Amino acid sequence: MTTLVPPATIAFIGLGMMGRPMATRLAEAGFTLRVFDVSQKAVSDFVGAHPSAIATASAKAAAQGAAALITMLPDAKIVRQAVLEGRDPAIDGLEAGALVMDMSSSNPVATQQLARDLALRGMALLDAPVSGGVKRAVDGSLSIMVGGAAADLERARPVFATMGKTITLCGPAGAGHALKALNNYLSAAGLVAMCEALVVGEAFGLDPGTMVDVFNSSTGKSNATEVKGRQFVVSRTFAAGFTTALMAKDLRTAGEVAAHLKLKMPNLEQAVAYWTDADARLGKGADHTEIFRYAEMLAEAD
Ligand code: NAD
Repeated sequence: MTTLVPPATIAFIGLGMMGRPMATRLAEAGFTLRVFDVSQKAVSDFVGAHPSAIATASAKAAAQGAAALITMLPDAKIVRQAVLEGRDPAIDGLEAGALVMDMSSSNPVATQQLARDLALRGMALLDAPVSGGVKRAVDGSLSIMVGGAAADLERARPVFATMGKTITLCGPAGAGHALKALNNYLSAAGLVAMCEALVVGEAFGLDPGTMVDVFNSSTGKSNATEVKGRQFVVSRTFAAGFTTALMAKDLRTAGEVAAHLKLKMPNLEQAVAYWTDADARLGKGADHTEIFRYAEMLAEAD
């Protein structure tokens, strides 16, 4: 098992809001990238900006000759399609011994199954979802939550080190994905609480900017108040770069984990329903910080 150091070849699938800056960090560190995305524009934009990267037309083609594969895709179903079951999946191009890293926020139960399926083909899987958003993907300071074998993490450490500052081994396969979904439950809960507080405060006559400043110097402080309050919510730019649809998916994942373990979590169940309805009502592509608009809509409903 060789450690993945530049110029090792990595297949990178999924060049979206997060995948693009993460792959950029790898290219700039000297890794050889073979990239694929169903959006041809995403691929040509990336290769245009990083001429050393190789554009490919399928997951299988990206995987050919690669020592490792990274997926940064919307959800576990799409990851499974790209890696194992879709048209020209990566598995048909990978060689035994290759390391697969799913950095998407996937469902941990599906990840456990994927790890078993890949092991039958002689391949190890690390789940390695990230937290920190687009800004920290760009500057390489993501928090990376790893599930899998410690030896595989050591193999992958130089790869993760280009993208993240905090790399935590959380447990066996699926542990990273479970922790990521639970993290986003906390993140979403803090954001909704801030938005509801702002709606009530504004109606009372408080200035929203002042409210956020006071939260940030008081016990109400959270990632929502510090990072999203003034920048994306009070300004109404709603441009954090993470969609309501993906946040709703993460909450459903957290809810599914609780249900799988037969645990009753009323607050989590309510959050799942809240974000799923918000996703339907805010429209396709809405940023997750637009949950403020949803809170405003609900406040005015009879
Ligand atoms: P995105 O929608 O911007 O990017 C996903 C990319 O995958 C798109 O370019 C899309 O064309 C591509 N794609 C979809 N299906 C494909 C397939 N079958 N084969 C190849 N490419 C395919 O999403 P994102 O915001 O980059 O998020 C990616 C993952 O990271 C999600 O699981 C998300 O929950 C998670 N995440 C996002 C953020 C964020 O701030 N945006 C932060 C942490 C984690």
